[in-house]
Amino acid sequence: MSEQVVAPRIRGFIATNAHPDGCAANVRAQVEVARASLPGAGIGTALVIGSSTGYGLSSALCTCFGYGAQTLGVCFERPSTEEKSGSAGWYNMAEAHRLARDQGRSFETINGDGFSDEVKQQAVEALQARFGKVDLLIYSLAAPRRQGPDGTIWNSVLKPIGGSYSVKSINLRSGAIEQRMFEQASEQEIADTVKVMGGEDWAAWVDALREGGVLGDRFRTVAYSYIGPQATAAIYRSGTIGNAKEHLEAMAHDLDARLAAELDGRAWVSVNKAVVTQASAAIPGVPLYIGILFKVMKRLGTHEGTIEQIVRLYRDHVALGATPVTDELGRIRLDDLEMTPEVQAEVATIWDAITTENVEAVSDFGLYQRDFRQLFGFDVEGIDYDAPTEVHRELTGP
Ligand code: NAD
Repeated sequence: MSEQVVAPRIRGFIATNAHPDGCAANVRAQVEVARASLPGAGIGTALVIGSSTGYGLSSALCTCFGYGAQTLGVCFERPSTEEKSGSAGWYNMAEAHRLARDQGRSFETINGDGFSDEVKQQAVEALQARFGKVDLLIYSLAAPRRQGPDGTIWNSVLKPIGGSYSVKSINLRSGAIEQRMFEQASEQEIADTVKVMGGEDWAAWVDALREGGVLGDRFRTVAYSYIGPQATAAIYRSGTIGNAKEHLEAMAHDLDARLAAELDGRAWVSVNKAVVTQASAAIPGVPLYIGILFKVMKRLGTHEGTIEQIVRLYRDHVALGATPVTDELGRIRLDDLEMTPEVQAEVATIWDAITTENVEAVSDFGLYQRDFRQLFGFDVEGIDYDAPTEVHRELTGP
């Protein structure tokens, strides 16, 4: 037991603590959306890699609470210690477990390195013992590095390819608009980023499930990608991370062909919209772009967060009985509302004109910052931040 008053420790795009009650409230709010928007049944067993925050969290909450699926999540989070609160993802999982237990649902978490053979094996054993075959695998892992079985480390970098590039950014500490210069990536950095964020590990998960005999007869799998605007293209889509996303998207075609041949299975990439998450906060230019995008999409009434996106993904594309709508490259496009010519033209006009002086007026960067603090359980309505709270939270069993 350790009751503490938890005050935010946030610097730039890094938060080193989290508020357990705020995180729990965030999870409850998402669960309410999932329950209200989805049918309550229809997926038997789901496995979500990267289940504790961002798109993966919404994906796991929707399978468990929106489709009644037995849900196994894999994530890499930090429980609390005597000195420090746990990570936001840990508290999110603790609340998801608590709600699932109270509602008689099945939600389990493996907290460990999803790239490793050990964690894959642990997941297969849990599925064999308690869950049965997997109907839906969501791959939503976002990581800065990957460790191989022999200890080799690959780092994912955010760099342009073929030349250095300067991108407009907002300084998350000072709020100033500035140009940030990035040197071009080396061949090694390009290859290493693909190793971390490309499709290899996704395919390794499918292989592990196949070898363990836990691929469902109508197995479906989705991994998440991003494209984004022209303004961030040099650093994102045409840069190292975009290269990795192309690898992931090519892997979807390989997996789809294999799964169709061996069972009635399918694999897709879903290109999701830009949202505030720990991963997106670290990408140069993206927080500024999101601040502008929010302003435009809110005005048009098309603003969405991760939970609304995933509700649409499952309901309209991936649930049994749904027929996925894909683009000419076979990708599901949840970023359709972000990428309309109207939205992109307005964002581009604001992007060109934005300065330190007018950032508050022409963008919704304040909303970006609030959403960012909320990722860690701060600034959440109804939470008494002056009151001590128990920072040790368990991931309870069923
Ligand atoms: P996030 O940072 O919120 O979540 C990352 C998840 O990965 C967490 O659950 C974390 O615990 C887990 N993780 C990290 N390292 C791990 C490891 N070694 N083993 C197991 N789990 C690990 O990220 P996000 O923004 O939700 O991104 C998820 C996916 O969605 C990524 O592929 C990303 O490119 C894609 N996407 C994100 C956005 C966006 O705007 N955030 C937009 C479109 C697509």
